[in-house]
Parts: sequence; C-alpha cells; structure tokens
Amino acid sequence: MVEFCPECSNLLRKRRIDDKLFLICKCGYQQEIQNDNIDIEKSIKKKKQALEKNLLIVSDEDKISVLLKAKKDCPKCDNIEAETWQVQIRSSDEPSTHFFRCIKCKYTWRE
Ligand SMILES: [Zn+2]
Ligand SMILES: [Zn+2]
Repeated sequence: MVEFCPECSNLLRKRRIDDKLFLICKCGYQQEIQNDNIDIEKSIKKKKQALEKNLLIVSDEDKISVLLKAKKDCPKCDNIEAETWQVQIRSSDEPSTHFFRCIKCKYTWRE
C-alpha cells in the first residue's frame, strides 16, 4: 500500500514509534496507521514459529525431501502410521537421515 502526503503529495514513509506504525512525510505531516499491519506481521510470525516447531530438527540449510506416509510403529503410543521424510545434512558425507513423526501423538524420531 503506497500512500501520499495530502499536504505536499510526497511519498509517505513507514516508521515504527513505540510499537505504533506511522506514515511520515518530509514536510512534517504524519498519520498513524491502524493496527492491521502489526496484526498481520504478528500472525506471520506466529505461523513461522509454528512451522519451525514442526520441523524441529531441520534447519534452513538442510535439504528436505517430500513428506510421505509410512507404516511405522510409534515408540510413544500404539499408532502404526507415521509421516516420514529424509534430510540430507549439508556438508556431511553421511547418507540422508530418515525422520518419522507419529500422525497421532506428533512424536518425532529419527532412524
Ligand atoms: Zn508532506
Ligand atoms: Zn504416537
């Protein structure tokens, strides 16, 4: 969203002051942005954190292959279905590692 100053038609710049977002112009005009943007930023952050939690042992630099379903006994509960994926750790000569996550209790382990 691009906004222009109603006073002088210059491009307004976003600035965060005390956790509030303002649109500020060179001429001194300023306008507070309602919280929508901050809420969106927060929800993106939350989603990102949730995602990181899911991939707890996996870092950005690791190569992840596609998730697959597999018949596998969960060590924590009696479920026999798990998601499985492979991770090739970067700069490692070892073969890729298999990870499993129980569909029922979400327990994750590697083989
Ligand atoms: Zn202005
Ligand atoms: Zn389980």
